[in-house]
Amino acid sequence: MTDVDGVVARLVAELGDRVLVDAPFGEHTTYRVGGRAAAMVVVDDHESLSRVASTLAGTGVPVMTIGRGSNLLIADRGFPGVIVHLAGDYAGIAVVDETVVIAGAAAKLPVVARTTVGYGLSGFEWAVGVPGSIGGAVRMNAGGHGAEMVDSLLDADVVDLRLGERTIVPAADLDLRYRHSNLTADHLVVGCRLGLTPGDERKGQEVMAEIVQWRRANQPGGQNAGSVFTNPADASAGELIESAGGKGLRVGSAEVSAKHANFIQADEGGVAADVLQVMIEVRMLVEYAHGIVLQPETHLVGFTDDEMPWRS
Ligand code: FAD
Repeated sequence: MTDVDGVVARLVAELGDRVLVDAPFGEHTTYRVGGRAAAMVVVDDHESLSRVASTLAGTGVPVMTIGRGSNLLIADRGFPGVIVHLAGDYAGIAVVDETVVIAGAAAKLPVVARTTVGYGLSGFEWAVGVPGSIGGAVRMNAGGHGAEMVDSLLDADVVDLRLGERTIVPAADLDLRYRHSNLTADHLVVGCRLGLTPGDERKGQEVMAEIVQWRRANQPGGQNAGSVFTNPADASAGELIESAGGKGLRVGSAEVSAKHANFIQADEGGVAADVLQVMIEVRMLVEYAHGIVLQPETHLVGFTDDEMPWRS
C-alpha cells in the first residue's frame, strides 16, 4: 500500500462518505476536462477540517484545495493526491461591525457581491461576474473592473494542511499582487474578513447590472477558465493574442475563443492535453509577433515540468 492509499484509507475511516475515492477531479473544474484525484474530501465543518488536517499532517501526500474550479486545468493523468473541497458551514456570509464582512471560503463571489450590496455596502460589486469562491479569490487575488481582493481584504483565516496549524493572517502578510499571493497548495483558506464602505444599494445594483451585461457581451460561456494568461505590464494578453493571429487557433478538442482571445474553450468530452497545447502555441505566437512572453494565470495541476514551458 502506498502512502497515498494509506492516507486515503485513514480519511475514509475518519470521515466516511464525505471522502470520494478516485474522484473525477477534472469534472469539478469549469473546463470539465482532465483526470481523477486519489480522493476528494468534502469538508463542511470545523471538526471534519481538523480531522483532515491531522490525518494529512506530516504525510507528504500531495494535497490541494479546490473551490469552484474556475481557474484550474487538471492534467489527463490526474492528481496523485487528496483534494479538499469546502462546503456547508464554510459558505456563510455575515456582516459584523457595520462595514466588516466575514465570508466563508466556500461562499460564491457573485453571492458575496449581491449580499453585501443588499446590506448597503460598497466595494465588492466587481466580484458579481467572477464564478469563483472566496477561498480561490484570496489565493488568486482575483479582481476585475478596476478592483481586486487586496482592496478590501483585511485578513484571512488559513489552515496549514501540512502542519495542521490554523492562523489569522493579515492581508499585508499575504504578498497580494496582480493574480498572486504567497499561499501555496498546503494552505487552505477557511474564510476571510472584508472591509467595505457604506454605499447606496440602488447604485450598487446598477453597477452590478452593468458588469453582468458587459461580461455577457464580451466573454464566452461554456467550458473555459476565464483569462488563460495574465496581462503583461501595459498590455492586454487578449489583444496581443488576437493581433498575433491566435483567435480561433484549434488543437484537437480545444480552441482559442472567437469572442475573447485570452479564453480557451474546451469541447465537451475534450482533453486537457489539447488545452495545454493551445496555451503553448498561443504563447509562441505572441512571443514571435511581439517579443512578449505570456505567463499563465490558470493554475495547472498534475502536469510534469517537461510538459510546460513555464514553471507550475
Ligand atoms: P479554483 O479554480 O478552485 O482554484 C484556484 C486556485 O485557488 C487553486 O490553486 C486552488 O488550490 C486555490 N484555492 C481554491 N480554494 C481555496 C481555498 N479555500 N484555500 C486555499 N486555496 C484555494 N478571475 C479574476 O480574477 N477576474 C475575473 O474577472 C475572472 N473572470 C472569470 C470569468 C470566467 C468565465 C471564468 C470561468 C473564470 C474567471 N476568473 C476570473 C477566474 C476565477 O474565477 C478566479 O481566479 C477565482 O478566484 C477562482 O476561484 P475558485 O474558487 O474557482 O478557485
